[in-house]
Amino acid sequence: MLKGLIFNSIFNLSRLIPLRTIKSITSKIPLGFNYHAVSNQSLPHLKGITRYSSIGEFERHVVFLKENFRILPYPEIRDYVLHGKSLPENPAFVTFDDGLSQCFSEVRPILLKHEIPCIFFITTGLIGNKRLFYRHLASLCIGIVNNIDEPVDMLTEIGRRTGEKIKSIKDFSKWARSVKFDEQDKLYKAAESLGLDTNEFLTKERPYLSSDEIVQLKRDNFSIGAHGIDHLDMKHATADEIRREIAGSCEFICNLAGETSVPFAFPFTSAGIEPALLDEILQNPAVDMFFDNRGIGFNGLPLNRMHVDSHCGKFDPDRFIKYLVLYNLLRQRFFTL
Ligand SMILES: [Zn+2]
Repeated sequence: MLKGLIFNSIFNLSRLIPLRTIKSITSKIPLGFNYHAVSNQSLPHLKGITRYSSIGEFERHVVFLKENFRILPYPEIRDYVLHGKSLPENPAFVTFDDGLSQCFSEVRPILLKHEIPCIFFITTGLIGNKRLFYRHLASLCIGIVNNIDEPVDMLTEIGRRTGEKIKSIKDFSKWARSVKFDEQDKLYKAAESLGLDTNEFLTKERPYLSSDEIVQLKRDNFSIGAHGIDHLDMKHATADEIRREIAGSCEFICNLAGETSVPFAFPFTSAGIEPALLDEILQNPAVDMFFDNRGIGFNGLPLNRMHVDSHCGKFDPDRFIKYLVLYNLLRQRFFTL
């Protein structure tokens, strides 16, 4: 309720504030725009857990960004963060996380057409559709449950197998969206009850990039970064698990993309990870620098990005960019939204 009011107020504010005012506030800060997928299709592994931009909407975003900001390629960001080189006015950058197949089929042609640089952060365990990300499994399960006419018996069965209180479709959706990394076996139990064959989905739909597609993105002059092996939620992980997730995925991407070092973007966020551990991991020659998801500017070691997908679908690009920046500035200053 309060959240809705705040969103609406920021939405209204974004109409009144000119873009030049926003740009004057952020003129020296690289604004990171972080996407996951772009598609005109209803993607069953995403639609239960997140929004995403249509192809037209994404194209309007990036064209607007190109006209009003200086979109940086990764080497310029790297030089700025690691070597203190100066940036042009109104710097921005575009990234995609997770390594979904639409990065190649839908995003790549638009970026090439408008000559827009981008960093693709890949979850290495998903490359080639070897397995399903559990959040995507949650979305698939929600889609199936929503289409069951008489779901009570099925939900009772899932509740019994998972030990969760699930009495309605709403309960199920809420639970499936909130499942944490270390509880994902419960989602697999639910999927089994629902008759969902995850291997068949992976083979038929091919939701993730292949190695060949990633190599082609690199040949196209885009930058490839790492986003973990398993998309681990590091908040509750051990130091060894965090080392393996970061260094292991960076080393994998180095080998695949023919690089000596690559950047790493935290799955979820870096919240709760000891800065000293991150400092230590940065000594690994395969690990270049860190990107996070907590809004604008630096948050300790990592360079932040704004989460675009959850806000897309509403406005023209001018208002959208203003809204997104305002929302993140206010959120970081005053709220935990
Ligand atoms: Zn991710």
